[in-house]
Amino acid sequence: MSDKKQILDVQNIHMRFNSKGVCVRAVSGVSFTVNEGETIGIVGESGCGKTTLGRCIVRAYEPSEGNVLYTASDGETIDFLKIDKATMKRYRKEIQMIFQDPYSSLDPRMTVLDIIKEPLLANFPKMPKAEMERKVMDIAAKVGLNTAYLKRYPHAFSGGQRQRIGIARALVLNPRVIVCDEAVSALDVSIQAQVINLLHDLQQEFGLTYLFISHDLSVVEYISDKVGVMYLGQLVEYAPTEKLYEHPMHPYTESLLSAVPVADPEAQMERIPLEGEIPNPANPPSGCYFHTRCCYCTERCRQEAPVYRELEKDHFVACHRAEELKLKGFSYE
Ligand code: SF4
Repeated sequence: MSDKKQILDVQNIHMRFNSKGVCVRAVSGVSFTVNEGETIGIVGESGCGKTTLGRCIVRAYEPSEGNVLYTASDGETIDFLKIDKATMKRYRKEIQMIFQDPYSSLDPRMTVLDIIKEPLLANFPKMPKAEMERKVMDIAAKVGLNTAYLKRYPHAFSGGQRQRIGIARALVLNPRVIVCDEAVSALDVSIQAQVINLLHDLQQEFGLTYLFISHDLSVVEYISDKVGVMYLGQLVEYAPTEKLYEHPMHPYTESLLSAVPVADPEAQMERIPLEGEIPNPANPPSGCYFHTRCCYCTERCRQEAPVYRELEKDHFVACHRAEELKLKGFSYE
């Protein structure tokens, strides 16, 4: 049995948006658990609901249903989605978010020093100015920013440096959980590697827990302990990274893995194309949501929604045929 402590228990999250009488189900019944110090990757095509899920967990959106049980630093387990404003003020700093776009997520009229300091001002208004600035300097140095340049504005920094500013802003409150929403997607590949290594080092140093949301399966494989695959607002597979990449049990995961580029041009993997478009989440298909694009679909799949269940230890899947299909995993050759 794992000796790691559970830090998050995400239970049955639903997020519905109503617009002009139409109900869009962005997230439908997502549940999973996260242990302290782990990185959980959440993958899927764009529009699958992964960003919405991340925002529900940090309560940037108020989900329509569900619970996020969080075991806080004081040992209390609270439902992060149900606590009142005063309690939220106490725990808000423990769960932070790093945003996708390092260009638009920083206020261009604020200096970098003020951007990183802002969360401290909001949470610790009585902290002496000198102590606040020392904390900002410390964290800026930790994420590899030149502290001599902190009085400059964000436009004077490159994309990778701006993402470091975003990381410093999230870290300055000493959080325990960070939701990284496509945190490296807007960066060049070489800068991506630097920022991922930085996130990894910070995790080792501060014991951070990450929820790493990305469409890039190579990045997710590198950084994650466990991976969840989302399709049309639902979690269709969730397993430890190696298991999921080597022995996927859901046809959608198999398709995504077959499209991951491999470094060796000789070792080309047989691609399993995804037929058709992602269905409209305002009008999802009957039965299994994936049936309109699945090459293993049967009549049952069109009629009946598959149950999300634990098929092997720590390996969850929602597919009627998961027991019988022998799906191809990612080839490391
Ligand atoms: Fe494909 Fe059927 Fe499994 Fe859905 S339930 S993924 S349609 S085989």
